[in-house]
Amino acid sequence: MAKTEQVAENAQLKDIIAHAKEYGFVYPSSEIYDGLQAVYDYGAYGVELKNNLKRLWWETMTRLNSNIVGIDASIFMHPTTWKASGHVDSFNDPMIDNKDSKKRYRADVLVEEHAANIENAGDVERANSLTAALARLLEAEDLAGVRDLITNEGIKCPISGTSNWTDVRQFNLMFSTQIGSVSEDASTIYLRPETAQGIFVNFLNVQKTARMKVPFGIAQIGKAFRNEIVARQFIFRMREFEQMEMQFFVRPGSELEWYKEWSETRMKWHRALGIPENKLRRHDHEKLAHYANAAMDIEYQFPFGFKEVEGIHSRTDFDLKSHQEFSKKKQQYFDPEINQNYIPYVIETSIGADRLFLMTLCNAYVEEEVDGKQRTYLKFHPAIAPVKAAILPLTKKDGLPEKAMEIVENLKYDFNIIYEEAASIGKRYTRQDLIGTPYCIAVDHQTLEDNTVTIRHRDTTEQERVAISDLHGRLTQECSFRRIFERI
Ligand code: ATP
Repeated sequence: MAKTEQVAENAQLKDIIAHAKEYGFVYPSSEIYDGLQAVYDYGAYGVELKNNLKRLWWETMTRLNSNIVGIDASIFMHPTTWKASGHVDSFNDPMIDNKDSKKRYRADVLVEEHAANIENAGDVERANSLTAALARLLEAEDLAGVRDLITNEGIKCPISGTSNWTDVRQFNLMFSTQIGSVSEDASTIYLRPETAQGIFVNFLNVQKTARMKVPFGIAQIGKAFRNEIVARQFIFRMREFEQMEMQFFVRPGSELEWYKEWSETRMKWHRALGIPENKLRRHDHEKLAHYANAAMDIEYQFPFGFKEVEGIHSRTDFDLKSHQEFSKKKQQYFDPEINQNYIPYVIETSIGADRLFLMTLCNAYVEEEVDGKQRTYLKFHPAIAPVKAAILPLTKKDGLPEKAMEIVENLKYDFNIIYEEAASIGKRYTRQDLIGTPYCIAVDHQTLEDNTVTIRHRDTTEQERVAISDLHGRLTQECSFRRIFERI
């Protein structure tokens, strides 16, 4: 991406962050104390949007697939879980501090950003050889080598402008805390860094009690925590976030077929949500984690470039096998069709609810000029929009508010509805545009005569006259998940 383009795009991110705060989507956490880095709170419209996205994912998984069921496991887990999963020993990022600014960086990110600048300046070959050198050093766990690379390249701290660096050290991303009230009894436990392990340790419980047969999946939505060294780009990288993960258990040997199937299905899901083809891409991993035999990311073109929104991983039998070893409890499944016991292989689909939220917000944010006037609106798919319709009496008198309230009463049990009577109708339309309400329903004097209202459509601003008795049916059709499901 050219530099000028990058500057403009980051300005767009700034606009989106400001919009999210001003119109009740996302605020910095504990803002009155100046916030907490990389932790955010969702406001009145943010929580509705996020809940809709989570529900859409949940229903896609558990309703469209009769062989997928859900669970809700705890955030705290037995500490051995994280030994078995490999997180205690290797869930690390290499970090480096600048001695002058006292700022901490991810060493690999410093090199990658430096390489990206070189690439932007036109020297693609040198940029590629730099990233290849970094990959080799990380693979060999040569942290001194990574530091040499940083100093030899003359990479400077953006704050202090110096190259006065500490050594590179590994930093474990898990948060730990104590469980137990008496200090002698207390033991260290972790806040889960991923929801997947809650699924693995419950694999047999679920398989038996829900009478599942391989192939089958277990879905879960829940909080995860990572002490990210570099926490930037708004809700893209948070220290407390939400994951939506599904582990799909398959017969050994069939995993790559299922991996292909899930990769395609998940790409389709993003398209069905209304993400344009040119803003989505798949990125196949060349370097695989020790437990994976195939992996890819679904990336979206955020204002700061193409970045991962979802990961699809073929995790082999690594996790279940490791839990079997550490717990000494068999994690095998008896497959009646082939009369064999085996530890299933696993395909994982893992998406962050917050990243999905950010993608949805970026994709919905529209600034356009109409008749010389600037208009900003959020073009959410009606099925996920925080508010489905605003009911607006034209004036505060002549019985219009009462008539409008009758409509609210009829719709509120099935839809999130706003009633508003203050300010001019134009101002009220604008307010709804800014939070992405797809339909504004105006009640005027004609309504009293013939029981019709006008529906004003957010994206086109076009208006049409509709009978009140048709409103419920119209909204049901327009706002139903079915419209998205049918495109998957
Ligand atoms: P990244 O490379 O961006 O750190 P990752 O490869 O570590 O991500 P996974 O461990 O595969 O991510 O997690 C699965 C999903 O969880 C990601 O695709 C992302 O949507 C979400 N996720 C991971 N870390 C964070 C975070 N710190 N903040 C918000 N979402 C996150």
